[in-house]
Amino acid sequence: MQKNQNVYDKENIFAKILRGEIPCTKVYEDEFSLAFNDINPQSQIHILVIPKGEYISFDDFSGKASSKEIISFFKSISEVAKQVGVDRSGYRIISNHGLDSHQEVPHFHVHILGGNPLGSLLVKGGK
Ligand code: AMP
Repeated sequence: MQKNQNVYDKENIFAKILRGEIPCTKVYEDEFSLAFNDINPQSQIHILVIPKGEYISFDDFSGKASSKEIISFFKSISEVAKQVGVDRSGYRIISNHGLDSHQEVPHFHVHILGGNPLGSLLVKGGK
């Protein structure tokens, strides 16, 4: 996470992907959302869905985005899941907010994980 967690960092890696400055393997795009493969997949299917607007985390998005953006964004997640077929086999969505969650990239994103049986929700041993 950036030092000032309340200010959107325009140089974060997903902002650069949105501006086309660095590549991604695009899975889906619409007016409000972009989805692409995670560079370090934790399951056979591991896709990140991000809003095109500048939101730091789920907390920021849910507080500041318009209803239209929020509805469209969450519909885009299920659309992506359908597109890759995990709506039938099952999938998990995760979004990390802030330090305790280990959010690494300070642009709101939802992970879609699936394509194989997933383990426990949380790795045991966290304090
Ligand atoms: P989080 O810990 O929830 O912030 O997750 C950030 C995710 O972004 C991790 O799963 C990374 O593997 C992924 N990631 C980082 N850089 C890239 C990139 N350039 N393209 C795709 N995924 C990335």
